[in-house]
Order: sequence, then structure tokens, then C-alpha cells
Amino acid sequence: MRTKMTNNHAIVIGGSMAGLVVARILSDRFEQVTLIERDQFPCGAIARKGIPQSRHLHVLLQQGQLILERFFPGLGEEMIAAGAHLIDVTADMMWLTPAGWGVRFPSNVSMLGFSRDLLDWIIRRRLATINNIRFVEGCDVMGLLSNTDGTCVAGVSLRSRTSEEEQLHADLVVDASGRSSKSPQWLKALGYQPPQETVLNAFLGYTSRLYRLPTDFQSDWKVVCLQAAPPTRTRAAAFMPLEENRWILTVYGGDSDYPPTDEAGLLEFVRSMPCSSIYNAIKNAEPLSQIYSYRGTENRWRHYERLPRYLEGFLVLGDAACAFNPVYGQGMTIAVLGASTLDECLHQQRQYQPNGDFTGLARRFQKKLAKINAVPWLLATSEDYRYRGTEGKPPSLLTQLMHRYMDRVVQLTTNHADVRLALLEVMHMVKPPATLFQPRIVIPVLKQLFKLN
Ligand SMILES: Cc1cc2nc3c(=O)[nH]c(=O)nc-3n(C[C@H](O)[C@H](O)[C@H](O)COP(=O)(O)OP(=O)(O)OC[C@H]3O[C@@H](n4cnc5c(N)ncnc54)[C@H](O)[C@@H]3O)c2cc1C
Repeated sequence: MRTKMTNNHAIVIGGSMAGLVVARILSDRFEQVTLIERDQFPCGAIARKGIPQSRHLHVLLQQGQLILERFFPGLGEEMIAAGAHLIDVTADMMWLTPAGWGVRFPSNVSMLGFSRDLLDWIIRRRLATINNIRFVEGCDVMGLLSNTDGTCVAGVSLRSRTSEEEQLHADLVVDASGRSSKSPQWLKALGYQPPQETVLNAFLGYTSRLYRLPTDFQSDWKVVCLQAAPPTRTRAAAFMPLEENRWILTVYGGDSDYPPTDEAGLLEFVRSMPCSSIYNAIKNAEPLSQIYSYRGTENRWRHYERLPRYLEGFLVLGDAACAFNPVYGQGMTIAVLGASTLDECLHQQRQYQPNGDFTGLARRFQKKLAKINAVPWLLATSEDYRYRGTEGKPPSLLTQLMHRYMDRVVQLTTNHADVRLALLEVMHMVKPPATLFQPRIVIPVLKQLFKLN
């Protein structure tokens, strides 16, 4: 039996970044989209249980911002109107790299300083104005339904805290339920092989707190980022302005050097950093929140692209498919890139299967998504290998060579504006990694290696 692309009903599981953007995209292609979220959505930029990471600093890379702007025109302006800060990442940021301070100069690489809760709230508010999107809140998806011969997805079973388990039918189901996704078990229950997993863990822990700074506080920076330099310096800290005149402090330690969660311990952790800017800012600041910690930071890739057989019409993306160590700030951008890839795949599906059929979509989508995940995965995991205690497959020769090359590139970012700009453009995914191998970068790297001037 084949899946008929009736375009009647699509279900999205999970209402965080991946799920929200997918719902927006599917609303153009389906008569009805149902987004099922375990939590009740708060009315406003308020934290909720299902995304505990929102208590910690979130950077949206420029590429993520550009894609979001395509699906939600005017989003950046709306964020700024709501109090987000526009930050020039080379001029407004004091960035301590493992090789010293990154050179500062004005550029066109910018980002916004905002709380994760604000971004999600503004996107949810936009979705609420789209007539064919329905939010089903306070409901857990419990499993997948398949058609009679088990070849295609037919919907999901779900349960709210107050009702019996029920079934909801759909032509397409997208799992965007994050790291804790149960899709491997759900597929197994239907007789499908679950995906293989690759896990790499640098045992990194986050601690964060919100502050209000004294009104007379002055600085020549908007953001301070004190990067770790593993294996020797395992600690890092960042301090960034948010909406409503608040600031967020996020510190982390790798190699199980987890930051403390008590007030005195946190202050001492910040004081132990190689620069006192953040410590000086927070020592007399007013704390506005509890101290929050988070440790589930391992890189985890569930290889849906390698499945021998696909449940047609069932797709997995966002952290549910591939979650990264968050310190590289890639998760939201990869989630929206994945959603945008789904948009392209649905468009192409019409050309492959003009009669409206989802056969082959799952395989094609998961393979394309894997290609997108490959570069950020390489970046995150190769940096994580610098920690002594990292658990996972041993580093390849390529990783070791990349460390040596990147050390030289980072060294150059302390006094070459063009190299710093190129590195940031690659990190913000607006330029491909090959940019770092152009002659204008390779030549100074080689000069440095051979100590030429
Ligand atoms: C400490 C930390 C810091 C981070 N910092 C950054 C950063 O600076 N920049 C960046 O881009 N990314 C960052 N990330 C990653 C980013 O938060 C995620 O990549 C992003 O939220 C996309 O995830 P997602 O939507 O796939 O899943 P999640 O955000 O995990 O959301 C999953 C959603 O699904 C719901 N759900 C789960 N199971 C079910 C179910 N069975 N039924 C119904 N609903 C369900 C959950 O309640 C939740 O709402 C960070 C992550 C962490 C942990």
C-alpha cells in the first residue's frame, strides 16, 4: 500500500525551535497542521519545563537568523522592538580565544542578544495567527500508528494528563521532540530497525543566572566571551545583555569540571577566569534568578540516514536526529536548516511523485539532513576531542591535523581582522568551511608555521 499525499493533515511532535518552524513550513503545504506539545505553552516569554536549556545563554547564528527571517519576515525587527540587543560580533564582543584576545573591528556579522524564551514566544505568537495550525498542548505523544500493511505512518497515539490514550490520524508525522525523542523505540514497536547512534561526550556542564547591572555600569563591550582552551583551561564564561534590561551569565566547564551551583562557588568560578571583566560586572549586580545547571551536553547523532527500511511519511529532525554540544551555538540554526530542507524535499516530492505520494520522502529527507549535520558535527566533535576525558570513538588523523591547522588560524585571529572575520563567518555558517582554506588564510598560516614574515 502506498501513502497518498492527500495534503490533509500533518502532525508535528514537539513545540520548540524545530517543531515551531516545521509547523510554519507545513502550513503552506497541508490543509491542517497539528503541533503536539507535552507542556502547556506559557503566554509570554516565560520558561517552561520541556526546554530547560532556555535558562542558559542562547546564541542564534547569523545563518539561523537569515532562514528564520525567510519564514517569519520582520522577525529580527520584532525581536529588537521587544528589547533584543543588536550585537556586532567583531566590534561589540570581547572574545578571549585560546591564543589571546580576538582583534576587534566593525563588521557586518551581527547577532541578537535575547532570551531563548523571547524567541520561542515571538514565533509561537506568529504561528497563532496562521489559521490551519492547531496547538494541542499538555499532551504526550506515546507512539506511532501505521497503515494496515505497516508500510506508512498513519498518525500518532497521544495522552494528556486528564484523558485516556487516543489516536490522531495524519498523512505525515514529523518528530521534533528533541534529545529525549522516543522515535527509536516507536519504530522498533512497529517492526522497524531503530537508528544506530554515535555519541561523543566531553562531560561539559553549564551553570547560568540572570542579573541586573547597576545603572552607572559602563563598558566598551556588549558581550564578553571567555573561551575554554582545553586540555589545560577547561572553564569558560559568557555574559550577554537580554531584553528587559537583564543580563545572562553562563559558565561551563568541560572534562567534568562542572561549575558550582551555589552563589559563592559560582562567583569564585567566575573569578578564576583569566579576565576579570565578567567578575567585575556581576560582583555588585542584582541577581534576578536562581542558579540553573544543565549537564546533558553530549553530541548524539541518531543515524536515520542509514536505515535499511523507512516508515513512509515519518521524518525526524532537530535535536531528535542530531544534538550537538551546545557551546558552539549550532542547535537552533541546524534545526531551522533542517526545517528548510524539509520544505525543499516536499517541493521536490511533487516533481518525483506528481500524483501526490510520500513514498521515498523519508529516505531522501533523512539523507539530505545528514549532509547538513555532517559539518557542524565535525566542528563540534573535533573541538570536543581537545578535552582529555572525552568519551567516544578515538580522534582520526584528520581531526588531529585539523586541530593543528585551526590552532594557527585562531592565533591569527588575534591580529588579522580578515582572518577573524572569515572564522566568524564560518562559525555563523554564512560561509562554507572551505573559506578557511583560501590562499589569504593558508598563506599566513604557513608563514606562521615556518616563522616567516
Ligand atoms: C544548555 C544548552 C545551551 C544551548 N545553547 C544554544 C545556543 O546558544 N544556540 C543554539 O542554536 N542552540 C543552543 N542549544 C540547543 C538548542 O536549545 C536546541 O538545539 C533547539 O532547542 C532545537 O531543539 P529541538 O526543537 O529539536 O528540541 P527541544 O528544544 O529539545 O524541544 C523538544 C520539544 O518537544 C517536546 N516533547 C518532547 N517529547 C514529547 C512528546 N513525547 N510529546 C510531545 N511533546 C514532546 C518538549 O517538551 C520540547 O518542547 C543549547 C542547548 C542546551 C542544552
